[in-house]
Amino acid sequence: MSAGRRPADTEKRLPTPSRNSTVTGIPYQQQLSAPYGRTCGAAALAMVYASLGLPDCQKAVWSQIAGEDKDVRRTTGSFRLARHALDRGLSAAVLQAARPWDTLASCWFTGARVILNHRLRPDSPLGHFSVLAGFDDDEVFVHDPQFGPFRRLTRDRLLRLWLPSAGGSEIVGHVLVAIASRDDQPNRCDSCGAMVPAQVGCGRCGNLVPLRPVAALGCSKRDCGARLWKYVFCPCCDFPTGEVE
Ligand SMILES: [Zn+2]
Ligand SMILES: [Zn+2]
Repeated sequence: MSAGRRPADTEKRLPTPSRNSTVTGIPYQQQLSAPYGRTCGAAALAMVYASLGLPDCQKAVWSQIAGEDKDVRRTTGSFRLARHALDRGLSAAVLQAARPWDTLASCWFTGARVILNHRLRPDSPLGHFSVLAGFDDDEVFVHDPQFGPFRRLTRDRLLRLWLPSAGGSEIVGHVLVAIASRDDQPNRCDSCGAMVPAQVGCGRCGNLVPLRPVAALGCSKRDCGARLWKYVFCPCCDFPTGEVE
C-alpha cells in the first residue's frame, strides 16, 4: 500500500500491550513489491522468524516457498509456509480451526506465533497472509504485509474476513499456520487425559503431519471439548487429516 493510505478497518491508535500478552516484539516487514508478485506469505514467515530470533531474508524465503506456480500467480500455499518453518527446525502446523477465536487466544497466551490465511479485503476473494501481533477480548491486531503494522480488526470483522466470500475465494476459511520453538514431547490433554501425539502420518503421501504447537490444536480426540481444530494439513502435499487414531 502506498504511504499515508490506511485501510478503512484500521484505526489510528496502536494497541496497548494486553495484560496477559505473551507474544511481544514481532518486528514488522512490508512485502516485496514487483516483480516479486504476492510475497505476503514470505513476509509473514520472515516476521515470525525474526520474532523467534531467526533473522531471515524475505526475498530468500519467498524464492524457497514460491513453488511451481512462481511464474504464473506468484502466490504460495499455507502448507509451504509450514514446510519451510519445519525445515528451519521449528514446530509448525497448518490447521483449520473449529473455534477460531479460541485458537487465536490459546496461541497468543502461550507464545505460539500465528500466520492467518484470510481475504485481502472484505470485498475481495484474494487470499492473503498476516501475522497475529495483538489480541484482546474483542479485537486483534495483525501485522499485515500489505496494509501495515498493527492492522486493527474487530472480532466480527476478522472472522468474516477469514472466511471465503460468496461466489468463490482463494481461501478455505479459518486456516492458520501456527509456529513455535520445536516441541516433540508427549503431551497429555488436561481435559480428557488422552495423549496428543506429536505427529500423524499423512493419508495421501505418508509423510508426517505435525500436531504441534499443541496450543494451536488442543486435544486430538474428536469428542474432547479441548479440541480446537477440524483439519490439519500435510506440510508436504496439503492433504487434510481430521481423525487421529
Ligand atoms: Zn482431550
Ligand atoms: Zn501428505
